[in-house]
Amino acid sequence: MKKNWLLIATVIAVVLGIGLGLLVREYTSLSHLERQYFGFPGEILMRMLKMIILPLIMSSMITGIAALDSEVSGKIGLRAVVYYFTTTIFAVILGIILVVSIKPGVSHKHFGSTGTTPNVTTVDTILDLIRYHGNRDPLKMHQLECGNNVTKEYKITGSYSEGMNVLGLIVFCAVFGLVIGKMGARGRILLDFFDALNEATMRLVQIIMCYMPVGILFLIAAKIIEVEDWAIFGKMGLYMATVLTGLAIHGLLILPLIYFVFVRKNPFTLMLQMAQALVTALMISSSSATLPVTFRCAEENVGIDKRITRFVLPVGATINMDGTALYEAVATIFIAQLNDYNLDVGHILTISITATLASIGAAGIPNAGLVTMVMVLTAVGLPANDVTLIVAVDWLLDRCRTMINVLGDAYGAAVVEKLSKRELERMDVASDVDMANP
Ligand code: ASP
Repeated sequence: MKKNWLLIATVIAVVLGIGLGLLVREYTSLSHLERQYFGFPGEILMRMLKMIILPLIMSSMITGIAALDSEVSGKIGLRAVVYYFTTTIFAVILGIILVVSIKPGVSHKHFGSTGTTPNVTTVDTILDLIRYHGNRDPLKMHQLECGNNVTKEYKITGSYSEGMNVLGLIVFCAVFGLVIGKMGARGRILLDFFDALNEATMRLVQIIMCYMPVGILFLIAAKIIEVEDWAIFGKMGLYMATVLTGLAIHGLLILPLIYFVFVRKNPFTLMLQMAQALVTALMISSSSATLPVTFRCAEENVGIDKRITRFVLPVGATINMDGTALYEAVATIFIAQLNDYNLDVGHILTISITATLASIGAAGIPNAGLVTMVMVLTAVGLPANDVTLIVAVDWLLDRCRTMINVLGDAYGAAVVEKLSKRELERMDVASDVDMANP
C-alpha cells in the first residue's frame, strides 16, 4: 500500500477527474476562458514533465553511451532496433488483419470523403521525418479541419510548434556520449557532470510525481468538459473498436509473449510494475512527456540495468511506437473502405512499410500519429484531407496507443537487457579489476 500510494492516488484522481468533469459539464456552461482556468493545474503538470525532458534525455543518453564501450553500445543499439522494428511490423500486420476482417469503413459510408488528393509526394513526406521530426504542431488540427494539407501548410508557413526535435537531440547525445567515452581521464570530468545532472533530474522527477494526481485529476476533468460531440463515438464505434481490439491484443498478448520467450519471467508482473507510467501515458497522450515516469518505473520497480534504460528508453520513446503503427494501418484502410477504394497486395505492402516509417517519424507528443498518417495516405493515393474524418475521436485513441507505445518500450528494455547480460557482466568484471588495480 505504502509503496504503491502514488499509483493508487493517480487511479483515484482519474476516477474523481471523470466525475468532476461530468458534473461540471452537466451543471455549468463554462466559457472558453473559464475552461482554460479550470484546466490550469493539469497544464502545469504537462509543462513540468516537458520541462524535464531535455535534461533527462541529455544526461541519460550521454552517460548511458559513454559508460559502454563503442562495441557494446553498438550491439545493444542493434538489438534494440531489431526489437523495435520487429514488434512494430507485428503491430502493423495485426492491425491490417483486423481492419480487413472487421471492415469498419464498409458500414460507415455515410461519412463520405473530403475527396481531394493534394500535391505531396511520398518522397517529401519521408524526408519530412528527418526535417521536421517533432517540430510540427500536431495540435493545429483546425488546419486539418479546414481541409488544408498539413505537410504543405507547414512547409509554406513554417509554423512550427515550440516542441523540440527529440530525434535530433538523441542523435547528438549519442555521438557526444561516444566521443566522451573515448576521451579517457579527461572525459571522466564530463561523464561525472552528466551523471550528477542525471541524478538531480531524477530527484526533480520524484517531486513532479507527487503533484501528478492533482494534475491528472484536472487534465481529465478539463478534457471531459471540452469534448463537444459525444455522439461521434457511437457513429465511429466499429472503427474505434477495431483499433482498440488491435491495441489490446498487441499489449496483452503479443508483447507479453515476446517478453516471455526471451526473458522467461511473468510478463504481467512487469506490466504491474510499469502501471504508473502506463496510467500517465493514458492520461497525457505523450510518450516523451511520460519518459521521466517510464525511467523511474523501469529502473526502480522492474530493476532494469541503468546502462540499458539510459540508452534504450529515450530512443524507444521516440522511434518505437507499436500502437501508433497499428493505428495508422487501421485508419488508412478504414479511409480506403470509406472511399470504396480497392486495395491490392501492393497497396497493403505499401501501407505496412509506410505505417512503420510514419510511426518512427511520429514524435512522442499528442496526436503526432495523425499528422504522419498523411504520408501513409498519400503513398497509396488516398486523399490526405480524409484524416479530418477521424480527427474527432483521435483524442481517445491517441491515449490508448500512447499507452501501448510506452509498454512496448518497457518490454523492449527488459528484452535488450536480457540479451546483453553477457556484455554487461563482462563490463562489471572489467571495472572490478580496474578498481582493484587503479
Ligand atoms: N501520442 C503518441 C505518443 O506520444 C504518438 C501518436 O500520436 O501516435 O506516443
